[in-house]
Amino acid sequence: MDGLRTRWPNSEVLFASKSLPAVGMYRLAQDEGLSVDIAGGGELRLALAAGVDPGRIHFHGNAKTDAELRMALDAGIDTIIVDNDDEIDRLERLLERPQKLLLRVIPGVDAKTHASQATGGANSKFGLPIDQAERAIARMRSHRLMRFDGVHLHIGSQILGTGQFAEAVEKISAVGTFPTYDVGGGLGVAYTYDEQAPGVDDYLDAIVDAARANLPADARLLIEPGRSMVARAGITLYRATTVKRTGRTFVAVDGGLADQMDIALTQQRYEAILADRLLEPWTETVQLVGRQCESGDLLVDGAAMPPARIGDLVAMAATGAYAYTMSNNYNGALKPAIVFVADGEARLVTRRETYDDLLATHAPAMAAALV
Ligand SMILES: *Cc1c(COP(=O)(O)O)cnc(C)c1O
Repeated sequence: MDGLRTRWPNSEVLFASKSLPAVGMYRLAQDEGLSVDIAGGGELRLALAAGVDPGRIHFHGNAKTDAELRMALDAGIDTIIVDNDDEIDRLERLLERPQKLLLRVIPGVDAKTHASQATGGANSKFGLPIDQAERAIARMRSHRLMRFDGVHLHIGSQILGTGQFAEAVEKISAVGTFPTYDVGGGLGVAYTYDEQAPGVDDYLDAIVDAARANLPADARLLIEPGRSMVARAGITLYRATTVKRTGRTFVAVDGGLADQMDIALTQQRYEAILADRLLEPWTETVQLVGRQCESGDLLVDGAAMPPARIGDLVAMAATGAYAYTMSNNYNGALKPAIVFVADGEARLVTRRETYDDLLATHAPAMAAALV
C-alpha cells in the first residue's frame, strides 16, 4: 500500500477477498488499511461481519442478482463495478440514492497465464469490450443517481511478467478520461523452488510508469491484489494416512482436492516437505496424493522427501490463496480450519467444519424420513 502511495499518492489498494474469504482475513485487511473487493452476497456478508467499513467495499461480478445488488445498496458500499448492460437495467430499477459506479472493460490483453486464470482477452466473459463501453458509460452518465467514476479491468491471475500490466494500463487509458482507473490484480507468486515472480516494486513500477505515460495526472489509481498478498503466507498441514510402495511410492494424506482444487484446475506445481523430519536425507521421490476419489487428486507429482511413514506431518507451501476459497465437501470432506500465526503465537480464526455442519443443510430430507 505504501509502495503504491509513494509512487502515485492518489491511490488505493483493495484486497481481492476471493483469494482468502475468511472473516479473520477481512478483519486483518481492514486493520492494515486496505479496502476490499467482493464478488457476491456471501463475500459481502463475510466482509460486513468482519466489521469492514462499507465505504471501503467494492463489488465485482459478471452475474450479480437483484437480491445481491439490493444487499450492497442497503449496506451502503462504496463502488459497484458494473459488468454489463443488464446490470445497468437492474440498477435503474433498484437505485434510490446516488451510487458510485465503475465499468469493467475488456482490455484485450493476453495475460500469458493458465487459460482458466486469464480474464482480459478478447473473448472474456467479464466486462464489456471497449467498443461497447462508450454506450454503457453514456447510459450511466445520463442517469440522475448513477455516479459514473471510471473504468476497471483485470487481465488475469498468476501473471509472472510485468509487461502485461503496463499494456493493460495503456489499453484502458484509450477508453477515455475519468476520475478513477482500477487496473485489477493478478501479480503472480513463486510456488516452487524454481519459479520466479516479479517483486512488488517491479510490479508497481510497471503500473505506475504506464500510468504516468498514459493516465491523467490527477486520476485515482486502484489496484486489487489477492494472491500476491496471501499465497505465500499460507501453508497447509496434512498427516500422512497411507504410504504405499507399489510401482511408485504413494504418500496419501488426510486432505486433497477438497481443500486444494487449484492443482486440478490450473496444474500449478507446489512444494511439500515432511515438516517433522526435514533434516533427514531426502532419498525418495513420491506421488503426494489426496484422499478424494479422483486420480487427478495429485498434490505433488514427484516430491522428494525422506522415506515417509504414517503419521508424518506433511506441509505444503504457498497455499494461502484460493485453497480455502475453493474448498468443498467432496467425499463428505470437512472444510479445514484456518490458523493465523504471528510472532510465535497461533490463533484459530476459522474452525474446522463438523459433521453437524455437513448435515445441517440436509435437514429437510431428515425431517421427511421421520414421517
Ligand atoms: C480475482 C480478482 C482479483 C485478484 O486477482 P489475484 O490474481 O488474486 O491478484 C482482482 N480483481 C478481480 C476483479 C478479480 O476477479
